[in-house]
Amino acid sequence: MRTQILVLGAGYAGVMAANRLTQRDDVDIMLVNPRPHFVERIRLHQLVGGTHDAVQPFAHVLADAVRVVVDEAAAIDAPRRRVLLANGDELSYDYLVYAVGSSPSDSGVPGVDEHAFPVSSFESATQLRRALADEPDAPVVVVGGGPTGIETAAELAEQGRDVTLVAGTVVAPYFNEPGRRSLTKRLLRLGVTVITGTRVTRVTDGFVELADGQHVPTGITVWATGFEPSDLAARSGLATDPEGRLLADETLTSIDDDRIVGAGDAVSPSGVPERMSCQAAEPLGMRAAETVLARLAGRRPELLANPFFGQCVALGRGGATAQISRSDDTATWMFVGGKAGAWLKEQVCVLTVTSLVKEARKPGSMWNPSTKARRHVLEAAKAETAAPAQATVVA
Ligand SMILES: Cc1cc2nc3c(=O)[nH]c(=O)nc-3n(C[C@H](O)[C@H](O)[C@H](O)COP(=O)(O)OP(=O)(O)OC[C@H]3O[C@@H](n4cnc5c(N)ncnc54)[C@H](O)[C@@H]3O)c2cc1C
Repeated sequence: MRTQILVLGAGYAGVMAANRLTQRDDVDIMLVNPRPHFVERIRLHQLVGGTHDAVQPFAHVLADAVRVVVDEAAAIDAPRRRVLLANGDELSYDYLVYAVGSSPSDSGVPGVDEHAFPVSSFESATQLRRALADEPDAPVVVVGGGPTGIETAAELAEQGRDVTLVAGTVVAPYFNEPGRRSLTKRLLRLGVTVITGTRVTRVTDGFVELADGQHVPTGITVWATGFEPSDLAARSGLATDPEGRLLADETLTSIDDDRIVGAGDAVSPSGVPERMSCQAAEPLGMRAAETVLARLAGRRPELLANPFFGQCVALGRGGATAQISRSDDTATWMFVGGKAGAWLKEQVCVLTVTSLVKEARKPGSMWNPSTKARRHVLEAAKAETAAPAQATVVA
C-alpha cells in the first residue's frame, strides 16, 4: 500500500522536504500552500523596491511527483491523522510535515495594525509596494533593526526615498562591532537616518512615537520587528514552545506524535529553536524528510546537526555586509562588506533556489553538512536556563 505524506507550507523548508521525499516511489506527496507559486521570501524587500518579483513557479522548484493543493490548513486532527482545510475539505495522511513558517510580529504596539505595513509575507510586501507607488514623495519610517528592516530601508533609500530607520537598541544585533560599523556606514551613505537606543511606542498615520516622547514624521510606516511562528500547532492542541513553534525532538519529530515532523521557522527542536532563517529552513526541511524516510525504511532517524555560516544583509543593489559566524551561529570578528558582500548576497539568494531545483531533479543529492555545533548549542541552552522544562533531547 502507498504511504500518504502531507506537507503543510511551501516555503524553503516545505519545498525542500517534499522534493527530498520523492526519493521513494511508493509514497504520494501532497503539498498544501495558500498560493500557487513559490515565494522567495528573502527577496521580499526587493519586491517592495521593485527590483525582483520574489516569485518562482512551482514547476521550476518542485519535483513533478509532488501534488500541490492551493489552500490553507485550518486544523490538524492528530489522533485521526487528518488535516482540515480552510475550504472545509479534509485530507488524511500517514506522515505530516509541518512547515508553515512564520509571519510578521506586531510586538503589541498600538497603531501597528491600522497604520503600518509589514514586509514579511508576499501579500503584505505587495500591498506596501502599491502604497509606495501611490505616494512617491512620502517619507518612510522603517521600524526594526534586524535584517528585514535594514534591507528594506536600504532598498528604498537607494531609490531616493526619504527613509528613517528606527532600529531599537542597536542596528544589526547579530553582528559584531566591525561588521556593524561597515553596515551602518553604508546605510548613512545611502541617506538613511538611523535612530537607535529607543523603541517605538505608538504608530499613527502622521508620526511614529518613540519611548523618549519624540515624534518622527511618517507618510508610510514599515513594520519589521521580527517574525512569529504560525499558531496552527497550538490551535490544533499540539505541544509548542512558548512562542508557538511545534515542539519536537532532535529528529524534528513532534513530542506528541511520531507521525508529525516539523521544519523551518515553525519547529522548535528540544525547545531550542534554530534562528528563523532560510539558512536553517532548507537543512531542516532535508532533516524532516530524512526522518520520515528513515521511519519508512525501519531505520533510526538521525539527529539535527547542520551548521550556520553567518548573516548576510543586503544594503541596496550596490552593497551588502556579510557577518561570518561560527557553526553554532555566534558572530566572529570577520565580515565581508561592499561590492564583495553584494556579490556574496546575490549568490546566497540564487543558491537557495538552485538547491530546491537540484533536489527536485535529483532527490537526495543536496549535501546536508553535519557538525557538533548543535550539541554545543543545546549544552549552552541547558547551562543558561537549566534547560526549558519541556525540552526532550533525543540522545
Ligand atoms: C525580507 C526578508 C529577508 C530575509 N532574508 C533572509 C536571509 O538573507 N537569509 C536567511 O536565512 N533568512 C532570511 N529571511 C528569513 C527567511 O525568509 C525565513 O526564515 C524563511 O522563509 C523560513 O522558511 P520556512 O519554509 O520555514 O517558512 P516560509 O518561507 O514562511 O514558508 C511557509 C509557507 O507556509 C505557508 N503557510 C502558512 N500557514 C499555512 C497553513 N495554515 N497551511 C498551509 N500553508 C501555510 C506560507 O504561506 C508559506 O508559503 C528573510 C525574511 C524576509 C521577510
